[in-house]
Amino acid sequence: MAIQNDELAKLEMTEVFFQDHLCGITCIDTMLGRQGMASCYLIEQDGMLGFIDTGTNNSVSIMLEVLRRKGFEKEQVAYIMPTHVHLDHAGGVGGLMKEFSNAQLVVHPRGARHMIDPSKLEAGSLAVYGEEVYQRLFGNLIPVDPLRVIRAEDEMVLNFNGRELLFIDTPGHARHHYCIFDKASNGIFAGDTFGASYPQLNNGRAPLIFPPTTPVQFDPEAWTLSLKRLMSFKPERVFLTHYGMHLGLSDLATQLRLTIKDYADIAREYAGHSQRTERIASALLQGSVNHLLDQQCGVSETQIRELLAQDMSLNAQGLDFWLTCAE
Ligand SMILES: [Zn+2]
Repeated sequence: MAIQNDELAKLEMTEVFFQDHLCGITCIDTMLGRQGMASCYLIEQDGMLGFIDTGTNNSVSIMLEVLRRKGFEKEQVAYIMPTHVHLDHAGGVGGLMKEFSNAQLVVHPRGARHMIDPSKLEAGSLAVYGEEVYQRLFGNLIPVDPLRVIRAEDEMVLNFNGRELLFIDTPGHARHHYCIFDKASNGIFAGDTFGASYPQLNNGRAPLIFPPTTPVQFDPEAWTLSLKRLMSFKPERVFLTHYGMHLGLSDLATQLRLTIKDYADIAREYAGHSQRTERIASALLQGSVNHLLDQQCGVSETQIRELLAQDMSLNAQGLDFWLTCAE
């Protein structure tokens, strides 16, 4: 009986994966779908804590476990900073605000109302993911008290216990997206604006980096300008939500800029096709497979397809919507 209880206790223990970087920055896996797909960041400055991106409602227990293992108290969390209000970044905001009573929410002015009243956000995400996947991944969203909301206008500087965090408006992936330039680490917390790049696929000669063109606000021109603006700060490193810390930014930025253009070209190429979403998805997936095999990434084609199929399907949905807006 005792053995069974022990086994049960083991199963109930929260599985957490996190990695400490420089300057009090910790990358935490939010376990969206699979390990290595989505992360968020804990930042610590002389005892003050903040989260940049949050994962989903399901990730709240992971954040609490990381704090516990690091010996931090809930009261130390001063800011919750979702880069934008897509649910893989901001789905856990309401849950975290409930846990951390001292915390304020710092959100893009265009995203604030959706955190205060998440009903539209829920409806929009249901349309993208469908009922079954939506409930499994995200669940019901918790509204945030408007008195605890700070709207981060472009170039707002947050004094994070003496550490300067600069909020930069970066449309392209979404119009409600900011990035944070952190002088201390010379790094940018980029959400989705600096693309997605999975470390497990990056063991070849060159990594794969792609723009998540998730519905419904893809804007290739704005995105390219946002990238240029981020690079103007001469950052050394970028902290991606999908996934982890990356160096060598000028190559990554160039590759991402070209891929944004490729994606728009592929979308236009299939614009008149009767099954264009499917055709775009398969073209994007094939392009990524070709690139990775060419770079000798060390992962089989079957695995690459498994790892990227959902991303490319969402990307195609976003490109399809972008085409529809232009028609
Ligand atoms: Zn997003």
